[in-house]
Amino acid sequence: MIPDDFKQQLLNRVDIVEVVERYLPLRKAGQNYVARCPFHSEKSPSFSVSPAKQFYHCFGCGAHGNAIGFVMEHQGMGYVDAVKELAGMVGMTVPDVRSPETVRRAEVAADLGTTMLTATRFYKSELRQGEPAIAYLRSRGLTGEIAARFALGYAPAGWQSLAQVFPDYPTSGALKDAGLVIDGEDGRRYDRFRERIMFPILDARGVIIGFGGRVIGDGKPKYLNSPETALFEKGRELYGLFQARAAIREAGRIVVVEGYMDVVALAQHGIGYAVATLGTSTTPVHVQKLLRQTDDLVFAFDGDEAGRKAAWRAMEVSLPLLADGKRVGFLFLPPEHDPDSFVRERGREAFESAVAAAVPLSEFMVRELMAQSDMRTPEGRAALLHAARPLVEKIPAPALAMVLRRRLAECAQVDTADVDELFKVRRSVPASPGRARRLRPAANAPDIVGLLLACLVGEPALAARFDRALLDEADAGSGVLAQLLDFIAASPGIDSGHVVAAVLDRYRGEPLARMVVEAAQAASGEGYDYLADFDHACRELLARRNARRRAWFEAKGFAALSPAERAEYAALAARPNSATLADSSVAKV
Ligand SMILES: [Zn+2]
Repeated sequence: MIPDDFKQQLLNRVDIVEVVERYLPLRKAGQNYVARCPFHSEKSPSFSVSPAKQFYHCFGCGAHGNAIGFVMEHQGMGYVDAVKELAGMVGMTVPDVRSPETVRRAEVAADLGTTMLTATRFYKSELRQGEPAIAYLRSRGLTGEIAARFALGYAPAGWQSLAQVFPDYPTSGALKDAGLVIDGEDGRRYDRFRERIMFPILDARGVIIGFGGRVIGDGKPKYLNSPETALFEKGRELYGLFQARAAIREAGRIVVVEGYMDVVALAQHGIGYAVATLGTSTTPVHVQKLLRQTDDLVFAFDGDEAGRKAAWRAMEVSLPLLADGKRVGFLFLPPEHDPDSFVRERGREAFESAVAAAVPLSEFMVRELMAQSDMRTPEGRAALLHAARPLVEKIPAPALAMVLRRRLAECAQVDTADVDELFKVRRSVPASPGRARRLRPAANAPDIVGLLLACLVGEPALAARFDRALLDEADAGSGVLAQLLDFIAASPGIDSGHVVAAVLDRYRGEPLARMVVEAAQAASGEGYDYLADFDHACRELLARRNARRRAWFEAKGFAALSPAERAEYAALAARPNSATLADSSVAKV
């Protein structure tokens, strides 16, 4: 939509420090600037802005991006608007080159938006007149004020009620695209939602993107959601998040419940910081969105088997997103209750103290794992550690991971050091006091790739020295490394001051963006000997590749090898870390 060269010019011209400073006060700290993170609440600053590489990164919540990304996140703007905003700051004009496809999509979205709004107004007016609906909401203890706050409505009985407000009902494409009608096999069109309380679903900007409908009486299904549409993707959205924003800031907490009725009932009782997933299990996008807004996230589930399974799933997707200083907990309600009935029967204080007493994620993990193993036997205790390891390894928060390993060691009746050893916990190597600084040399796969990424963003010209023959799918992260090499190759002359911001633009939200930020962060400052680190990493990749090749020859058996393969094998056995005869191209490394 916006030409690449314009974006590059813009990113070259704006200074991210100036951009960020418009919105929050920055303090110089060494090479970088720091601030309290605007994307999560914190007391000490973990948000850092790099003027040398033109990106920001928060150590607390993991938020990262270039100047465009900052304006998008901070101002809640779309990409194009953020580009326009930045262009305005530096006196550039964004060329309008919308493709016909983009124009069409924008029109469709606008059409859908209008359609949803018309439907919402219709459902609201039906609620005012609909005796059964009002009686139902009253029976749930909901006032008109709360109904208005959530724009609740009523879809009346009858097959084509929406025809009253949509004159083109039989033919409207927007009605169909919005998921409000269904075209039957006999060619007759009818309303998807009938005799239901309607809960409009809003996105982060407050735009209505879908509906949830709860049946009045005993109809099936009890809850019905809009299908996925151009506007509505269930795994990304949370019911009530838009309405909850002020309460979340005030309480510093979010409670995730399972149904929209729970959200509304809790709000009715003064608990405005509840949100609900929309008939899907918790996704990483959900957790990411929520942890950006709070440090204290509590999932409320039913206490039954299904609830514990859902909680386990929420725990698993939360692990890679945890940060020290964030609290994720699980609240299991008594079997006879959901949050709606609980708060109606026992009141706000009882619910809030249950939330405060939620089981911390770490404890939930340990308890569930212990329940699966026979802790009286050594084998059972070993099984506990075996099952815990992949989970603990996903946690990027070092303090939490450490405390968990200690707790697991206690339960398994072994020393913490043994658990650390078993989980192969790496200790960071302090920078050597030598002449030039070196990045952390480490011995396992992700770190070699991380080291190469750091070298390439510190000195992009090194990409030309890298031999692609060294890339092997068996090395974790080799895919992102190849992406970065391709990107640098396609951006001739790009330097270390621009490469990170450019990657963040091209690969926004993808693993490469995050890994490049982490790599650049690890190498912030000056005076690194990138060439030495680069050569070290290439040698390590070569050694691994040679080891794999030897193992392959050995598995095949000496007798089955061709003369050339025998020669290569002999050379490998003699000098395991050198380039092979067959691959003399590697020798230049
Ligand atoms: Zn943050």
